[in-house]
Amino acid sequence: MRKGLLFIISGPAGSGKGTVVNALLKAHPELKLSISATTRSPRPGEINGVHYYYISKDEFKSRIENGKMLEYTVYSDNYYGTPEKEVVEAMENGNDVILEIEVDGAMQIKEKISGSVAIMLTPPDKDVLEARLRGRGTETEDVIKWRLERAKEEIQLLPKYDYSVVNEDGKIEECAEAVYSIIKAEHQKTIYTRSIIEKFI
Ligand code: 5GP
Repeated sequence: MRKGLLFIISGPAGSGKGTVVNALLKAHPELKLSISATTRSPRPGEINGVHYYYISKDEFKSRIENGKMLEYTVYSDNYYGTPEKEVVEAMENGNDVILEIEVDGAMQIKEKISGSVAIMLTPPDKDVLEARLRGRGTETEDVIKWRLERAKEEIQLLPKYDYSVVNEDGKIEECAEAVYSIIKAEHQKTIYTRSIIEKFI
């Protein structure tokens, strides 16, 4: 069976990656979303094992030491990371896997997993970015300012990604389909389609 591919969907806070990923999975349920582990507390409505695996800092550190994390980072004083086992198993079962992670983790995966594809989602411009960060209404002013600065730094890393997609206001489905077209195109790369030749020999 052909192995699945690994797609990193990344982008700064305010890029709307969570919403785009939800729309992508709704339209293409065959894609598997990797559930990250985090040491931050659940927000209202978030469910353990659905949105994240919520674990303690000690548990997170022990998973790092035992090599169970494919990548991890510290973001806003909390650890976030991708559990390796689930991702590897899903890919071996032929599923394409989506990682929705921040840029530091994205770069770690690009280095570690050959053939992984990094897609950066961006807001259209800095005014929209700020409006989105403020509009969420769940963070303090200090956190908003910090996220805004970090977002501007993160966008500078765009050239290190394989693809970028702009997420315009009110065009979530279009943005998700633009991402899906990248997924489809990656499967047509000739490194994965060489076996076609055999049919002609
Ligand atoms: P939030 O606290 O808003 O859910 O997530 C904060 C940031 O951490 C977001 O940019 C999110 O994409 C990122 N993130 C979530 N899971 C992971 C992960 O497993 N690894 C990394 N590197 N970042 C993650």
